[in-house]
Amino acid sequence: MDQARIDSLRAQPVAPVQHIIDGVSRPASDGGTMDVISPLDGQVLTQMARGTARDAEDAVAAARRAFDDGRWAGLAPAARKAVLLRWAALIEANALELAVLGVRDNGTEIGMAFKAEPMSAAGTIRYYAEALDKIYGEIAPTSPDVLGLIHREPVGVVGAIVPWNFPLMIGAWKLGPALAAGCSVVLKPAETASLSLLRMCELGQEAGLPPGVLNVVTGEGGVVGQAISESMDVDVLVFTGSGPTGRRLMEASARSNMKRVYLELGGKSPNIVFADAPDLDEAAKVSAAGIFRNSGQVCVAGSRLLVERSIHDAFVERLVAAAERMKMGDPLDPATNAGAVNSLRQLDQNLAFVAEAQAAGRRVLTGGTRILEETGGYYMAPTVVADVDPADRIAQDEVFGPVLAVIPFDTEDEAIAIANGTDFGLAAAVWTANLSRAHRMVRRIRAGVVHVNTYGGADATVPLGGVKQSGNGHDKSLHAFEKYLDLKTAWIKL
Ligand code: NAD
Repeated sequence: MDQARIDSLRAQPVAPVQHIIDGVSRPASDGGTMDVISPLDGQVLTQMARGTARDAEDAVAAARRAFDDGRWAGLAPAARKAVLLRWAALIEANALELAVLGVRDNGTEIGMAFKAEPMSAAGTIRYYAEALDKIYGEIAPTSPDVLGLIHREPVGVVGAIVPWNFPLMIGAWKLGPALAAGCSVVLKPAETASLSLLRMCELGQEAGLPPGVLNVVTGEGGVVGQAISESMDVDVLVFTGSGPTGRRLMEASARSNMKRVYLELGGKSPNIVFADAPDLDEAAKVSAAGIFRNSGQVCVAGSRLLVERSIHDAFVERLVAAAERMKMGDPLDPATNAGAVNSLRQLDQNLAFVAEAQAAGRRVLTGGTRILEETGGYYMAPTVVADVDPADRIAQDEVFGPVLAVIPFDTEDEAIAIANGTDFGLAAAVWTANLSRAHRMVRRIRAGVVHVNTYGGADATVPLGGVKQSGNGHDKSLHAFEKYLDLKTAWIKL
């Protein structure tokens, strides 16, 4: 990665940003703005529009007009595909600029951000662009005097509300299939990670998305997000974020037009290491990255480490060493392994979890503290807490920070009981050389994804979604189209 170019991008002032509504850059209806604080140094980076409910309503109205007059949904699939492919190419051409802007806004280390943000977003948009003209209807096997046709139609106006941890990647998981399907979108980025996503959406306009097809409204979740979720004219709400917000969205749907609500929520994912794991050094290294990269702000983070008792001490020692080897600090240094915590609020929350565990007598083996405070930024040392009881809050609630809770187990059944013993069901991992055990564990763990002898890792071809209170529906893969395409039957008497 070109450090000189990164440094020159980081030195550039960031111009204030506004909504994109009906293809036009617009301020908030009441002129309100909010400071964008960089987690790298705690300083104001720029201002952005503080959206109002009226702005959200205007954006929904623009999306509705764009959908109803067919300026996008009515195009030949090949024409939509050409626009989306151009957009993917523009994102790639501007990848470093997008990545650095995003890092200054949300704190993710640049090495990871570059791949996981613009490059992955471009790949996702290209994946759905290439898929969109391979979707066929069906002819039903009816009796011969009837023709039963099953059409697939775009659902209409999509409200998309996304979090701060991977704005471009997660944004593209919604925008790619929604726009490919022919829907119009109103997008609400997170308060603390709007800049790069707005810029990516501007590139979408440059690529040829017609006005009103992709609208972006910035501001507070409780105002803009709430107005989108309560709108009578949004057909589908797709969301990634926390459980409490997900619950509010379902309530808002019930109160308004009963729009479908698809939720990708948090996790408390178990990373289970058996004594027969093929390579304990590799397992320790990958497990450390699985919880500490992006300072633990990863929905699938392996935040509970379940270790077979016979190797507990030896494995935990390796893991602590791996944690202490991680280079923390400046997210714009490509050598950094984990950057900043997104906000002071999140940092305080992380520290409070550790303090509570400590007060209950749990052992903090490394970390547990704020570091690099002199930078003004929000950094936390990778933290390993041992002797955790599966019922502890640190083992039940999502911290969403660089905090690992270690729990020993004796048998496969006990590991399963602990693994499944939370409200969540997003991700998991099993480390074992025993193929039968690996398959047994995959079947018995209740989660959307179970990794075997690795942690994390996926691509656009596989779905991601949670069970239990980790959510419903899936992002990624062709299955994601199911949220954005309705089935319609034509029953024709011959
Ligand atoms: P959050 O729920 O606070 O915010 C997410 C989005 O919802 C933001 O855009 C916010 O502005 C908006 N919002 C907040 N209140 C709202 C309201 N009342 N009505 C409508 N919208 C509202 O979550 P966060 O703190 O930004 O993100 C972290 C959470 O996201 C974690 O719990 C994490 O696990 C989860 N997450 C899940 C996945 C996944 O794929 N399952 C991926 C990434 C993050």
